[in-house]
Amino acid sequence: MAQGPEESAVGRQVEELLAALHIERATQEQVAAAAQELVGMGREAVGRLARGILRSGRGRREKVAALLGCLDGEPATWAFNELQRLVGSRPLNATERLWLMTTLQRLAEAAAPPTARKEPPPDEPAARGSRSSLAAAVANANEEDLLAWREELASVDPEQREAVLANVLDSRDPAVLPLLEMVLSLEEPGIDALVAEGLAGFATPAVLPLLGELLRRPDAEVRRRVRKTLLALESQGVDTRGIFAAAAESDEAGAQALATMPDDAGQMIVVVARGRGPGRVRYALVGIDPIEEGIVNCWGESGLTDSEFRGRMDDMSERTSMDLYPMDLNLAQALVAAAAEYARQQGRELPPDYAACRRVVGRPTAPAALPFDFGPACAECGQRLRMADMDEGGLVGGELAICARCAERPRRCRACGRRLEVAFDEFQMRRAAPGGEVEFLCLACVGRGRKKRRRKR
Ligand SMILES: [Zn+2]
Ligand SMILES: [Zn+2]
Repeated sequence: MAQGPEESAVGRQVEELLAALHIERATQEQVAAAAQELVGMGREAVGRLARGILRSGRGRREKVAALLGCLDGEPATWAFNELQRLVGSRPLNATERLWLMTTLQRLAEAAAPPTARKEPPPDEPAARGSRSSLAAAVANANEEDLLAWREELASVDPEQREAVLANVLDSRDPAVLPLLEMVLSLEEPGIDALVAEGLAGFATPAVLPLLGELLRRPDAEVRRRVRKTLLALESQGVDTRGIFAAAAESDEAGAQALATMPDDAGQMIVVVARGRGPGRVRYALVGIDPIEEGIVNCWGESGLTDSEFRGRMDDMSERTSMDLYPMDLNLAQALVAAAAEYARQQGRELPPDYAACRRVVGRPTAPAALPFDFGPACAECGQRLRMADMDEGGLVGGELAICARCAERPRRCRACGRRLEVAFDEFQMRRAAPGGEVEFLCLACVGRGRKKRRRKR
């Protein structure tokens, strides 16, 4: 592209303006003055600045975002038009897309005359600016995109983060909820408070799971804002009674769950896979520990074919010598939810990818009887089991657990009287009566009991 001497002069002026702006210590007035100066240079200068929004350089993006953030009226329209051209002109990564979308949205609002910027009619919640493009970007995002956005938001300073989030919240479009859910996993009171309040603008029960999560935050201000938002939603006719009930995350077809059998310490792996488009599968794998950690680890993949997914599961079974069995989806979801809740109660930080994994797993839709208790206590002495118990011979069998010390006591099979070596023999534990003593049955007697029952039928 040929550049006239005037054009490059404008380019130099814009660069000088940027160089003189020390964004990390500039006051809002100084940024506004710089933006004023830029507007004074004319349309070409504003256009150049906007076109360079994605250029790298120390602090450059922050400066450009701050300056664009000051524009309104016609200059905001100039910048908006430049940025919109940019969106179509080159492939963008997830982070660039989010920056562009939120900036575009703010500019669209700033460009509108003040009268049009007032509250939108309540029955027309998605009719402004580039809202739909931001929502569309989020709606098309996969878990990796969402994680990338979350990392990006985590890495910028709180003020910018709040500006971006305010734009996202201002869209009032349920399509952006996955992004909000993802940033809530940062568990930062500033973000939590902003989202807790901003969700009042989304007149849909789809926000209830997020509000339910925020209600469990330790920060009292966050919880206060959630309660206020719930009242605001109610006054908009949203039925908020479901706040404590589980809500379905996704009605995507083809969800399936797999799990290993709990091992001697109750640990198990739960996998949930979902189809995403023809032949596209994503899955999340969650390692569960009912004794201490709740959630040991989690990861996932997306963009697989059905056979690639099956191959991954076969590889894992082979590597770990653990078979995966089909599990009821609702039970798998309830197990993962209970494990995360337990981890939180224990004051443990959830793995960084948990938020992405939970999106794939989804929330349970019905109560489920879990195969074991989280945080089990010894059925004989009442003491809470620790991981050390499991290393020293403690037992977990279904809802019954025995601490290492109690496990050392000599045991006999309740049915045949045979002496049991707890460390070596296979056996089953059960209670003689609800709340009664724990009985041990050798495997042979467990088998006989089964046969007898079968004959009776
Ligand atoms: Zn005990
Ligand atoms: Zn026996």
